[in-house]
Amino acid sequence: MIRPKLAVHGHFYQPERRNPFTGEIAPQAGAAPYRDWNTRINAECYKPNSERGNLRHISFDLGPTLASWLATNDPATHDRFVASDMSVGLAASCGDAMAQSYHHAILPLASFADRRTEIRWGLRDFELRFGRRPTGIWLPETAVDMTTLRILADERVRYTILAPWQAVDSRLDTRRPYRVELGGGKTIIVVFYDAALSASTSFESDATMNADAFARERVLPRLTGPSFPDGTPRVTVIATDGELYGHHQKFRDLFLAHLVSPGPDTPDRGFDITTVGRMVGDTPASLFPVAQISERTSWSCHHGVLRWYGECPDASDGRWKGPLRVALERLGTAIDTVAAGLAADFMDRPGFWRARDEYVDVIFGAETPEGFARRCLPVATATQQAHFLTLLEAERWRLAMFASCGWFWDDPIRPETKHVLLCAAKAVRLIDAAAGTDLEGSLIDDLATFVSPSRRIDGAAIYAEALEEAGQPVRRSPGAAPAS
Ligand SMILES: [Zn+2]
Repeated sequence: MIRPKLAVHGHFYQPERRNPFTGEIAPQAGAAPYRDWNTRINAECYKPNSERGNLRHISFDLGPTLASWLATNDPATHDRFVASDMSVGLAASCGDAMAQSYHHAILPLASFADRRTEIRWGLRDFELRFGRRPTGIWLPETAVDMTTLRILADERVRYTILAPWQAVDSRLDTRRPYRVELGGGKTIIVVFYDAALSASTSFESDATMNADAFARERVLPRLTGPSFPDGTPRVTVIATDGELYGHHQKFRDLFLAHLVSPGPDTPDRGFDITTVGRMVGDTPASLFPVAQISERTSWSCHHGVLRWYGECPDASDGRWKGPLRVALERLGTAIDTVAAGLAADFMDRPGFWRARDEYVDVIFGAETPEGFARRCLPVATATQQAHFLTLLEAERWRLAMFASCGWFWDDPIRPETKHVLLCAAKAVRLIDAAAGTDLEGSLIDDLATFVSPSRRIDGAAIYAEALEEAGQPVRRSPGAAPAS
């Protein structure tokens, strides 16, 4: 008899908190007694979970912005994440780690080119970090549409994880993987997590006080019944933020340890532990049953992806979200136009966008900027090569300004929104200096079209405040309200 199984997936992510102008993280009072949130969450979650060996028994994705911070600030923890990818018994092609698209942008809201860059950067960062090509990828907020899935298939990604309400069929049995037909003979495997089990793990702290009771009372009832007729075992998947285990909820790193690697004295629970990587394995997608996905849906907004561009009813006043997105989209388009125009002096347009897709090697540190410029532009002058690198840096920060966290919360006065505005400032100032344009003036005008619900100051004032706090010169457009 094939025993049923439990797989746990942890989505480990922190937004980029480093000041784009200085590379430093400012001290954050709310994170006391630690100097900033990354340091605190590392101490409460990343470090202990990696030290306890929990990562060897779960599947996980480690966002590139967090991974690069860990690599610099706690290399031992970073290396334990990497070492946990290939645990014993896995085929060489599928480990337990999954990639994540690079800046945690909501991909269905991004342009086609941006989606492809974010996905390619995420896959390449993983390859450089983990030493193998990833087979699975975590989509930020599990935000999905068919176009995004087609790009994944084109990039030879085999699987992703989604919430069960992202399937068209609401009665779909989530205890096995499915395949989604993408047209043109393309397919991708989708693993749907168990909504009730994941929600109780995330939000019911009483449920996770005791791992044995959780296994008996919560997990086992989800696994009743025989295997599927084709012999596939029942596997139920818990997917949550990785930070849950020790940061959102104290001591849950211990809970996780006992849940996924019970000691020899633990009585048989009636199910085994597996991972999403093993669930999918090398099985050809064609052997999984077909499911259809609902376009533009996600795991943390029940109104599609409205939370990141409009007035999602979860926010008390989301009127700022649309204008902020429009302002940054307008800036993004303008930066692309100016950058590609300047790059036309030394390379063709497809070449420039190809270079953008490959620039992640420089950000990772696998290649020096100068070496990269020489490789891309072997016959250009040194000045042209320097110019080229400036344009790519502008593109890098222009991509970073779409991190989903800027729209996630209730008020644009929060640090997450200020940070995407700083990324926009970094990008626009690089471009304006290189091209003699005044895209920043247009940006400031556009930002003045929304206000903070709590402080009633407009987006231009929030932008100025963010720059002041980051120690950068502030430019005010005529007539804009002064920052308070
Ligand atoms: Zn919503």
